[in-house]
Amino acid sequence: MIAKVIVDISVSEVDRVFDYRAIDGVQRGSRVSVPFGRQTTEGYVIDICETTDLSQDKIKDIISVLDDRPIVSEEFLALCDYMTERFHLRKIDVFRLFLPAKMRGGRIKALQKIFVYINPEYLETDPNLFIKKTAHSQMEVFEYLLDAECAEQSYLNANFSAAAVRNLISRGVFLTRMQDALRTPYKSIVQKDNEVVLTEEQAAAVESIMSSDNPTLLFGVTGSGKTEVYLNCIERVLAQGKTAIMLVPEISLTPQVMRIFRSRFGDDVALLHSGLSDGERFDEWRRLLTGGARVAVGARSAIFAPLSDVGLIVIDEEHDTSYVSASNPRYITREVALFRAAYNGAKIVMGSATPSVESYYSAKNGKYNLVDLPHRINKRAMPEIQIVNMCNEVTYGNGGMFSNRLVTALDECLKSGNQAILFLNRRGYSSYVMCRKCGYVAKCEDCDVSLVYHKDENLLKCHYCQRRYSMLDRCPNCNSQHIKQGFMGTERIVEQVQKMFPSARVIRMDNDTTRTKDAHLRLLGEFANGNADVLVGTQMVAKGHDFPNVTLVGIMDADMSLHFSDYRAVERTFQLITQVAGRAGREKKPGSVILQTYTPKHYVYKYASAYDYQGFYEKEINLLEATRFPPFTEILRILISCEDEQLALDATKLAFDKMKEVAQNNDGCFVYLHAMRAPKKRIQTKHRMQVLMRIKPDNDVLRKSVYSVADSVISAYPQVTCFTEINPNDLS
Ligand code: ADP
Ligand code: ZN
Ligand code: ZN
Repeated sequence: MIAKVIVDISVSEVDRVFDYRAIDGVQRGSRVSVPFGRQTTEGYVIDICETTDLSQDKIKDIISVLDDRPIVSEEFLALCDYMTERFHLRKIDVFRLFLPAKMRGGRIKALQKIFVYINPEYLETDPNLFIKKTAHSQMEVFEYLLDAECAEQSYLNANFSAAAVRNLISRGVFLTRMQDALRTPYKSIVQKDNEVVLTEEQAAAVESIMSSDNPTLLFGVTGSGKTEVYLNCIERVLAQGKTAIMLVPEISLTPQVMRIFRSRFGDDVALLHSGLSDGERFDEWRRLLTGGARVAVGARSAIFAPLSDVGLIVIDEEHDTSYVSASNPRYITREVALFRAAYNGAKIVMGSATPSVESYYSAKNGKYNLVDLPHRINKRAMPEIQIVNMCNEVTYGNGGMFSNRLVTALDECLKSGNQAILFLNRRGYSSYVMCRKCGYVAKCEDCDVSLVYHKDENLLKCHYCQRRYSMLDRCPNCNSQHIKQGFMGTERIVEQVQKMFPSARVIRMDNDTTRTKDAHLRLLGEFANGNADVLVGTQMVAKGHDFPNVTLVGIMDADMSLHFSDYRAVERTFQLITQVAGRAGREKKPGSVILQTYTPKHYVYKYASAYDYQGFYEKEINLLEATRFPPFTEILRILISCEDEQLALDATKLAFDKMKEVAQNNDGCFVYLHAMRAPKKRIQTKHRMQVLMRIKPDNDVLRKSVYSVADSVISAYPQVTCFTEINPNDLS
């Protein structure tokens, strides 16, 4: 028999199928060890067949089968085919997504530990017959095991007398066996669950989700009880003997969320997220694979949870940008979810208080089943959002980061013993240019997105069309010289707070303070326990936390994401304001939100402060249609990079020429097509160039012709790296 193998070597030319002679135990989906050139490497068997084109003396034997079962199921073999085609990926890169990183190359294995149990022969007799009256410590550990039945030897040694344990083992009273020890993360977080009775709205939502043939978009305001709806749907599919996947943005994986799942599903839930050690991740993954856990909860990559017979996939906060992977292998989580749902006949529910405009558009057009949860569970009003015009502050001589209104509110909040969150709306590193006197923002005349200041050339550039503008020294609108670029940082905010309120205890949460494992959870925990009065942070404080004592939310610079160079910048801003505002006044104390902006007249603030999603959506979708951005087009980018600048240029030219041909043959399908250097011209030592296009959406044939252009670039210039991206979150 011949096995078709994808070898685990990351060179583009190698992403093809190699034939090997199968040995006993090799099946479709087996992970195997194979000779490759002069080395030995791992590979995945994607098929078994009778014949090969290789001659008998050329073909080599598979060396060994690496696991006790095929590690890639039929579903994942099919998913691999789908993903390679849909997202233009290499097969090996897709396979790597399917397994915990450290498992490859045998760098991690199941952890085997010594477990101790009582020899059954000694269970029926009076222990006083074989344990002396004076041997108290022996009796203690014996009684413990009578109750516990089995325990790790290291646990017994640590909690009882190690000598007593040794003695009982040597006399055959205790027996030992090697057993896989599972490294379960957050073991300590177990809480009794309160029985919850669904509201009528929630019950109707569950019915609708479970009976719809289309994916459901669950549009529920913050605090409307979406989580309870998800839990209920999961319970239903478990009762049918099926499994479930629940995806949340990485930074919403809070202790609260984990506690909820653990208390509801106990050991049936496996948690997958980046804070786990490699060992924990591997064990959780293996519990899913072997049926030890039937519910996977995790960030984006949990969509690859090795579950079979999936009955439900939940995508919480569906609008979150983390669901589109921004580095190789680039994939769109929702599309992977659709594939898995179709394969298993599973239901999909995507929930949000601020659905992406794209998803809401799909729902309105009948592609998704739209379910509303318009009311908060506790009927509590949304906190009032006050808009402060920072230009006025500048005019009246306050050039700092805090408006007078915010200082007063913070003072009141702290005096009354409540907590405050100060949110810095920071995204990416590129900066826009704004007049601090009148709020004017430099924008591209063609694209209506904010221009990005490029310090090296002292130029303003549009990242969507590459038009250049000279840097302003005066505001074209009001002639002021208060031109600002760059942004404030969280450290400076903390400094200011401490200067103004020396006794306030402040926690800072941003990328710098959350590098270490669990730091993010620890900081949130401290704030929740009341060990701090003020939490200063970036996006990561915006999501899903319940802090009952928070009565004030300050949005320091709302414009920051508004003027990000992205056609979805306004949408993101709306989402962020709604999310972060939802942190105030969750419980009995009413909350308020102070939003500081230099452009208070911008429509996003009107709709956000009125919590008017519908109004916002109408405005936004019309603009997207007029400017021909997604969902009315699809943005594709062929990204080419190479250390050799000339090669990168040549490859880009080839790609562009071929794309022009494709455009000619598909008259009217291209809204935009251009080749240029990427906004980040060099990363590390590689020169980056791109062919950027906007094409008619949902045109698989067209997308494939773009992919085949990329393929021909790869084969003509094997030295360059070439990727294709669909609707990337970040065009840098
Ligand atoms: P969302 O995810 O929509 O923002 P949550 O699921 O966090 O809302 O629910 C808000 C609060 O309401 C939570 O504290 C939750 O425990 C509570 N809750 C949800 N459903 C019910 C219910 N049917 N009865 C009582 N409390 C509920
Ligand atoms: Zn101005
Ligand atoms: Zn432009």
